[in-house]
Amino acid sequence: MLWESIREEGQEEQEHPLLKDKKLIKEEINRRLVHGIKKANLEYDSLYSHEKSSLNKDSELLSQLFHRMFFYRLNEKLSAFHCDHTYRFSRQILTQMQFNRGKINDILEIFKKNGGECDCEVLYNVESLLIGKDA
Ligand SMILES: [Zn+2]
Repeated sequence: MLWESIREEGQEEQEHPLLKDKKLIKEEINRRLVHGIKKANLEYDSLYSHEKSSLNKDSELLSQLFHRMFFYRLNEKLSAFHCDHTYRFSRQILTQMQFNRGKINDILEIFKKNGGECDCEVLYNVESLLIGKDA
């Protein structure tokens, strides 16, 4: 399973609590990243533009990665370490997300197709297809 959002029947997305506490935010990030389960909203979620991402052919997969905090985690890695012009961190994070090797290679192909030929380009060129106001 790629993604699961836990909610009561009839409950809307907005009714997830918006987390402010650092420890709870960290827990939510790990829960989404590793298990694909969403229990609460994060400020990061509001960056996502449904309108903009829907223009992309690979929107479904890329949006799942966004909501599972892939790009968020990649940004953390690249804030601490330089990009070595490989997919080192992307592979590491996708492995942590429990994708198998074949799926990871498929995802990296999709990054490449969308202008992300290494970790830093994935962040700058691919995440930017999903966030912000300008379509
Ligand atoms: Zn790079």
